Amino acid sequence: MRKKIIAANWKMNMTIGETETFCSTFLRELGDERKVEVVIVPPFIAIAKASEMLRDAQSVKLGAQNMHWEKSGAFTGEVSAAMLRDVFCHYVVLGHSERRTIFGETDEAVNKKTLAAHANALRPIVCIGETLAERDGGLVEKVLDTQIRGSLAGLTAEQLEESVIAYEPVWAIGTGRTATPQQAQDAHAFIRKTLADIWGQPAADKVRIQYGGSVKPANAAELMSQPDIDGALVGGASLEPRGFAEIVLNTAKVLG
Ligand code: PEP
Repeated sequence: MRKKIIAANWKMNMTIGETETFCSTFLRELGDERKVEVVIVPPFIAIAKASEMLRDAQSVKLGAQNMHWEKSGAFTGEVSAAMLRDVFCHYVVLGHSERRTIFGETDEAVNKKTLAAHANALRPIVCIGETLAERDGGLVEKVLDTQIRGSLAGLTAEQLEESVIAYEPVWAIGTGRTATPQQAQDAHAFIRKTLADIWGQPAADKVRIQYGGSVKPANAAELMSQPDIDGALVGGASLEPRGFAEIVLNTAKVLG
């Protein structure tokens, strides 16, 4: 049984003060819900404050939005996996489509980061997904296959099991246009089949695959009810603590 995992990707939003306010409201709204694993992914500057605020919340973990693959050195503007561990991050989002398109990250770079995350006991949330042109051109499976093989190359089956894959169709991110539950399920099933072809069915069955792309309180339950959808990576709707808590609680309801 895969534990559902809902992550809040704040992107370049939230000051330290706003982080403090968010966390106290969110924890109050969440109450004693424990069935769903929650990951808060603040900008680097706010991670320490979030860590302090979430210290006692057992089902809420911390993540970062990116990292470099090297241990240390002359890489101005970057942070390492060890630095993220130092502020109690358990997860790191890698290869988000904004990193790929705005900052030119390739599958090769995402792969180096994924391997470095595992080497430092950080769980990567590896993002993949097609553009609208690729979907319209019938290339969804080809794109996903290439991104999976490129971004996850060299992982052991155990490392794969501890990774999270986020399927985020680029056309659904921040657009208000959500994939239908069936479109998302089809892509997730293809991803799991591809993982099984490479790493074997037992490992593929353990990997959690999140859906990302305009997830909101109103559409969370239907998406999360799909058999291969194991959670969500939420952008815009994760900035409002009550709405984000509602997404988590609506997911918990699906579990009964
Ligand atoms: C994201 O940034 O990963 C994302 C899915 O954003 P949104 O929920 O705003 O579409």
